[in-house]
Amino acid sequence: MNDVAICLFAESGYDRAAQGVIGAGRRLAGTLGGRLHAITIGTHNPELNVRIAAVADSVISADQVELAEYQPELCLDALAQLCGELAPKAVLLSNDTYSQELAPRLAHKLGGSAVGDGIELIAQDGAIRVKRSVYGGKAVATIELKRSPAVIWLRARAFEADSAGSASVATVRQTRLNLPSGDRTRIIERKAESTGEARLEDARVIISGGRGLGGPEAFKDLQELAGLVGAQVAASRAACDSGWYPPSWQVGQTGKKVAPGLYLAVAIRGASQHMAGISDAKVIAAINIDPDAPIFKHCQFGIVEDYKKVIPLLREKLAALQK
Ligand SMILES: Cc1cc2nc3c(=O)[nH]c(=O)nc-3n(C[C@H](O)[C@H](O)[C@H](O)COP(=O)(O)OP(=O)(O)OC[C@H]3O[C@@H](n4cnc5c(N)ncnc54)[C@H](O)[C@@H]3O)c2cc1C
Repeated sequence: MNDVAICLFAESGYDRAAQGVIGAGRRLAGTLGGRLHAITIGTHNPELNVRIAAVADSVISADQVELAEYQPELCLDALAQLCGELAPKAVLLSNDTYSQELAPRLAHKLGGSAVGDGIELIAQDGAIRVKRSVYGGKAVATIELKRSPAVIWLRARAFEADSAGSASVATVRQTRLNLPSGDRTRIIERKAESTGEARLEDARVIISGGRGLGGPEAFKDLQELAGLVGAQVAASRAACDSGWYPPSWQVGQTGKKVAPGLYLAVAIRGASQHMAGISDAKVIAAINIDPDAPIFKHCQFGIVEDYKKVIPLLREKLAALQK
């Protein structure tokens, strides 16, 4: 079978990452000459299903109470059942933490192969190859997935949404799955972090702070600056590990991979693990007191200065523009 299945969590909605997965799925199915099936799991999200139905050839919605909250075993079982029925050549997932957790386990259950953080999909001579960054963004590896299905989670923003759409609107099939009791793991408590609606992966402008800020107070200055230009504030791992900013806003190899139009790195050295998270940024600018900081090798604009002198000036200039 040359079909492609995309798996999306209803909870995430029709965000930029979902649009990228749908677009990538549509194009891959077209190249393979197969159909595009969309699977949505979790709480009922009619808007997501309607949007997908305009692009996919079939939509299956596993909307049942056991899947209302993310439970890895249950979601894995649901995806394995549905992908098992569809027998696709490739299964695409988004870059959310659920997908990252499930992709290798799903591949194992289906007897396929898995790769994460894909930035390009190539279907050639019946094989599926995936490009992904390696060595902290210093090189790109092309990986051939030999066992079917190829289960791949995709980097956010690396793929365009689909502009053409399907010739007809697919019907949405609601399904009821027989799921295991789910008593192997139990969620005891959930603590929501107040990130509002914002997602770093969707941010157009990011102002990021590092250990050179010297403490958590300086992040308030960055937030004030960000407020003037509708930017999101992020941080290096050193700043997050110091407890100055929440870890969910960490950028880098072990944090978020972001792709803003502008990434302003304030008092961040530019370690390869940090740069791995911003290789898709269009413009990188940096403020660093050390002219030899590695960040200056990667940025288009750089200011060698103490951030304490630069941030107030920037704030002043930007505030003047708002008037
Ligand atoms: C397996 C692994 C995974 C990792 N994953 C990540 C990751 O996901 N993200 C990440 O960020 N790191 C990651 N790291 C850590 C990474 O190697 C660096 O240690 C980290 O990025 C350093 O953060 P920093 O640049 O904020 O701090 P530092 O290295 O301490 O740099 C601080 C910078 O601030 C500058 N500075 C100091 N004072 C001022 C001032 N007043 N004004 C302006 N500039 C000033 C200094 O010149 C310096 O360049 C990882 C490491 C490992 C081993």
